Amino acid sequence: MNTIDVDGRTCRPSKILCVGRNYRAHIEELGNEIPESMVIFHKPNSAISDTLRSAIDDQPLHYESELAFTVKAGNLHAVGFGLDLTKRRLQSALKAKGLPWERAKAFDGSALFSAFIPLPDNIEGLSLQLDVDGELRQAGGTSLMIYTPAQIIRELKTFTTLEDGDIIMTGTPAGVGEITAGQYFEGKVLFAGKTLVSESWTAVASANAPRAKL
Ligand code: MG
Repeated sequence: MNTIDVDGRTCRPSKILCVGRNYRAHIEELGNEIPESMVIFHKPNSAISDTLRSAIDDQPLHYESELAFTVKAGNLHAVGFGLDLTKRRLQSALKAKGLPWERAKAFDGSALFSAFIPLPDNIEGLSLQLDVDGELRQAGGTSLMIYTPAQIIRELKTFTTLEDGDIIMTGTPAGVGEITAGQYFEGKVLFAGKTLVSESWTAVASANAPRAKL
């Protein structure tokens, strides 16, 4: 099982629950409709990685930076920066046929995270920033979300059990794009303009699809 760092302790999330289409500007950039209800998909523990890849096989990967929260005793517990990596070409083909997205969203190496730190008193002041090669690419935060983190966790609990250490990814703001090998990614979670936690990755070239572990 893959692990994450939550407030200095090692955690093994059983799953990552992801909200899609939670920022209006991102919905518009992909030409999607504003959903009538929350769009939710999930990634398994095996999606977690420390390696940022530009492609897998012939599928280029796109980055989506997101505020990510861990759960403890059924409540939001800690916050970190997350990358929801996407095989966008494949996802578009699956969407066009009305098929599930897992092949494009839940593959090995599709979820990267900073360390997670305890929540500030007021999570409404949380925001994120992604710089690629020193240039601002994405910025967003709880104030711009269609569904707040509190609404998201309430909705998730209506149909699934949230285990301690599970991760909730809250959707991406505008500015998503394709990853190029050699690019330097720096993600930050901020509160009232101050950096709470950050992480960086240098993208490496395409890999063959990871083989199933025996
Ligand atoms: Mg996403």
